[in-house]
Amino acid sequence: MFSIDTLTRFQALETPFYFYDLGLLSQTLKACKTAADKYGFHVHYAMKANFDPKVLETIQSFGLGADCVSGNEVKAAIATGFRKEQVVFAGVGKSDKEINLALDADIFSFNVESIQELTIINDLAKAKDKTARVAIRINPNVDAHTHHFITTGLDENKFGINSWQLSEVAETLRSCSNIQFIGIHFHIGSQITDLTVYKSLCIRINEMQTWFEDHGFPVKVLNAGGGLGVDYHHPDQDPIPDFEGYFKVFKDFLNVIPGQEVHFELGRALVAQSASLISRVLYVKYGQKKNFLVLDAGMTELIRPMLYQAYMKIENISRNAQDSGLKTQDSRLKYDVVGPICESTDCFQKDVTLQESFRGDLIAVRTAGAYGQVMASRYNLRDAVGSVYSE
Ligand SMILES: *Cc1c(COP(=O)(O)O)cnc(C)c1O
Repeated sequence: MFSIDTLTRFQALETPFYFYDLGLLSQTLKACKTAADKYGFHVHYAMKANFDPKVLETIQSFGLGADCVSGNEVKAAIATGFRKEQVVFAGVGKSDKEINLALDADIFSFNVESIQELTIINDLAKAKDKTARVAIRINPNVDAHTHHFITTGLDENKFGINSWQLSEVAETLRSCSNIQFIGIHFHIGSQITDLTVYKSLCIRINEMQTWFEDHGFPVKVLNAGGGLGVDYHHPDQDPIPDFEGYFKVFKDFLNVIPGQEVHFELGRALVAQSASLISRVLYVKYGQKKNFLVLDAGMTELIRPMLYQAYMKIENISRNAQDSGLKTQDSRLKYDVVGPICESTDCFQKDVTLQESFRGDLIAVRTAGAYGQVMASRYNLRDAVGSVYSE
């Protein structure tokens, strides 16, 4: 819900833009930090979910680490003030340039996704007379029970090293003089709402760490990745994910050896609810079968619904605000809510029930803080979509 003051502020602004509720962001970070601290767990923020500078600063101020998936993210993390000992770097296709940059930055760990990558990091580290700390990303073959477009931990996915290759990993590690093995890494997918999935992950992590310990590789770090989901259907009733329940699964089912560190990499859960995409209705088209609301925002500003078939709550915030005061008789209509881009897939959602809507009304797409603004494009030579903050 947006306050009347916020709506008045929106009226004066050019749309579309992302609106960030920094108060809610801080509350979310505090809830996560408190829940993790209870068990001594370490949390890295998965920067790819949102790298707005104010968002990054806020997250850094809570003492989280950074989980990066490109050289530029490593650079941005360090520039924001994340400590290098708290920066990890994953990704199935790290370029030599990116690896060199991360070696120069002395990051905490490379999360390595193939045997060949291990040898390349070793060669590049040797050339710099450095030792690279690495965690092996293992594909645990655990079904995340999420949309197949965003599952990553199955044998058929491109991420990580499969368990049948572990002997070869061990051999390679023994031959790599400029690599220090520090632990094992997993990430099984995104928007995971069924916590029993994480229990299955814990069981696999326990097996894998036993394997490494048995083969003479002490496992200092267990990194369970991220993926905790958020409630896209109820952003107002359920704005903060169940961090306590999430971490408790790991507390209960992970075999943690004394002295071992447990790491997590949360993206979506930390930032998704803290932003909405705000746009205006440009046109209302009444058809025989369908009504269309044409917004001034489309897939160029927010592509999740089109790319992942993702549900995001759409509200006419101009009409909602009036209604709460007036309590008029129900004048709801169904609309296909679409953008202005010259593509048929440029539709946020079909058959959305909204208050009767008019040109100029403000429309909010909620829970847009993760994988929203960061995926914006300039297709159709659109303006870059900007940020507006609550404070
Ligand atoms: C994207 C990603 C994450 C974060 O995923 P969320 O679903 O946003 O929590 C964590 N770790 C790795 C390696 C990733 O690629």
